[in-house]
Amino acid sequence: MKRILVTGGAGFIGSHLCDRLIKEGNDVICLDNYFTGSKRNIEHLLSHPYFELVRHDVIQPYFAEVDQIYNLACPASPIHYQYNPIKTTKTSVMGAINMLGLAKRIKARVLQASTSEVYGDPEIHPQTEDYWGNVNPIGIRSCYDEGKRCAETLFMDYHKQNQVDIKIMRIFNTYGPNMHPNDGRVVSNFIMQALKDKDITIYGDGSQSRSFQYVDDLVEGAIRMMNSPKDFIGPVNIGNPNEFTILELAQKVIELTQSKSKIIHQELPMDDPLQRQPDISLAKEKLNNWEPKIQLEEGLTKTISYFSKLIKSEY
Ligand code: NAD
Ligand code: UDP
Repeated sequence: MKRILVTGGAGFIGSHLCDRLIKEGNDVICLDNYFTGSKRNIEHLLSHPYFELVRHDVIQPYFAEVDQIYNLACPASPIHYQYNPIKTTKTSVMGAINMLGLAKRIKARVLQASTSEVYGDPEIHPQTEDYWGNVNPIGIRSCYDEGKRCAETLFMDYHKQNQVDIKIMRIFNTYGPNMHPNDGRVVSNFIMQALKDKDITIYGDGSQSRSFQYVDDLVEGAIRMMNSPKDFIGPVNIGNPNEFTILELAQKVIELTQSKSKIIHQELPMDDPLQRQPDISLAKEKLNNWEPKIQLEEGLTKTISYFSKLIKSEY
């Protein structure tokens, strides 16, 4: 049994990670300020003797004796991270400093949930970990992208300067149950719109691409990364290389929900990356042949079933 701290544990990815860590017999502290997360995501764990929930903001120092820290606290959807951009940067940067300081003090291993956004609007395709990125430092996505880039810098410097035991994973677009229904991200938006027979809102012409990973594959990759040999610190891409255009995604969601929704086009937001696809060779090599197992249709079907139950429960 390990003592594990998950920051952002009541969020979409964090809740799945807490589930899995508890199932594997660990002692888990879930820390969250509920900005985008919800107690509902981890409600079923509250009575578990080895699960503890703490309301806390990572921009403030926190202390606990643990063996491992997964640092996930940060809003991930553009709508949410742009709501209070200064707070978003603070969460990434001060959250990283506080978790690294904690890891240094108690000699814990700490894993940073970084993002494919560190590549910005990439000029190389697919993206490998040695690509430095093409990021606008002063645009509407910068609070998130640059906050995450600075967090990576801090992780590397705490490692080099203070020998902190770190891991960095760069997560590519991930979806699944427990996403917030009003999250604004493309998969949850399209499914909610399709289930309610409302217009499906494609931003731009829909030719921009993303590679969508089902959450269970990410959780498996994150746990393998956390428990990989000490000398492999990353960064490592964790994503599904199967790439789709946003138009293809909309058509797939309509087909799977048998929806009457029509596709409409809206303005493309500023700095919206044109394409994104992970090169996962490094993850395969270093993380015991890790690769995604759940492809888009299967993952969407599970996610549609979750949102469909959620909508029914609202009535
Ligand atoms: P989410 O918004 O569902 O979860 C983030 C959680 O962090 C929420 O529970 C939120 O309440 C909490 N949080 C936010 N600010 C906090 C603060 N200051 N103090 C404490 N808790 C705070 O998003 P998610 O999709 O589950 O993302 C989890 C992590 O993974 C984030 O760090 C995100 O950047 C990263 N990530 C996600 C994706 C994706 O596609 N889902 C892609 C790349 C990276
Ligand atoms: N998108 C869209 N309609 C929506 C929500 C998003 O067309 O209702 C597009 C968005 O412009 C982007 C892609 O879908 O090109 C992925 O958006 P998301 O916010 O999910 O993730 P990110 O841009 O951070 O990869």
